[in-house]
Amino acid sequence: MENFTVTGRFAPTPSGRMHLGNVFCSLLSWLSARSQNGRIVLRIEDLDPERSPRAYAKLLEEDLNWLGLDWDEGGSDGGPAGPYFQSERTEIYCRCLEGFREMGLLYPCFCSRAELHAAEAPHYSDGRFIYTGRCRNLKAEEIQQLSKSRKPAIRIRVPEEIIVFEDFHYGPQRELLSQECGDFIVRRADGVFAYQLAAAVDDALMGVTEVVRGNDLLSSSPRQIWIQQTLGFPSPRYGHVPLLVASDGRRLSKRDGDLDLGILRQRFPHPEPILGFLGWLAGLLEKPEPVCARELIPVFSWNKIPKNNITLDSSMLLELN
Ligand code: GLU
Repeated sequence: MENFTVTGRFAPTPSGRMHLGNVFCSLLSWLSARSQNGRIVLRIEDLDPERSPRAYAKLLEEDLNWLGLDWDEGGSDGGPAGPYFQSERTEIYCRCLEGFREMGLLYPCFCSRAELHAAEAPHYSDGRFIYTGRCRNLKAEEIQQLSKSRKPAIRIRVPEEIIVFEDFHYGPQRELLSQECGDFIVRRADGVFAYQLAAAVDDALMGVTEVVRGNDLLSSSPRQIWIQQTLGFPSPRYGHVPLLVASDGRRLSKRDGDLDLGILRQRFPHPEPILGFLGWLAGLLEKPEPVCARELIPVFSWNKIPKNNITLDSSMLLELN
């Protein structure tokens, strides 16, 4: 039996059809793992059941298969670390939360969105702001009183600790949790577990050793590493990739329907032109010539991948054939 050392992952949120930006990120995760003879896990991040209907998860698997981006375990195939749908992992997250509770790290937070936004706190360019700690030291009677009118979210107390890690694309990173992150929510008031908790726990429990994802999530890594360390779990290596952005600088999203795989698959009966276009944007090909995913493995190298976000001229893709 082959001895695999690297395990990468796809961790899509099935809240719509995959768009070109998702495909770009999945392609790079796949190439990074496969170029090291690694495995791939498919985890469906459907924490919020209202936003992630099952039908989208099915389509997502179908689209990945069509693209030739295969995986070794997870999704509807299941596997040894299942379930691979986050909506079915509630018990696991509850146990982790219990662990944090025993360490005295959790507290209920009754702040409304409006109160949070009105609070004076340093805002970061990525829209994040530091929680002021308003509910950090509530007394038992206050909690009881507030609980009568509102269901609280659960927040976790972060220490005065600096998390240091080496992003294998963007280099050394450090964050002082208490000042640059602040106490964050691990379970929403409606009971939905937070992405930070679920992703950190699942990467560890699913044996993921390498996380490749968009650079909009670079600032999530310190939180996730801290969660893993605090629960006594191993942490993967992280490598973030540039985002595909529209010409006005906006990142592509599922709202950019013209670039979703539903439309693209009508236009292109085969995936090769799309993969070649993305391989070219990633700096792996000199021209956007049609290729299959496997043909990109030998030319893949992190040194070739740009660091700045990539402005996408979608008309170029649509002219290819
Ligand atoms: N589920 C997230 C998304 O689809 C990705 C999370 C991650 O890669 O950690 O944007």
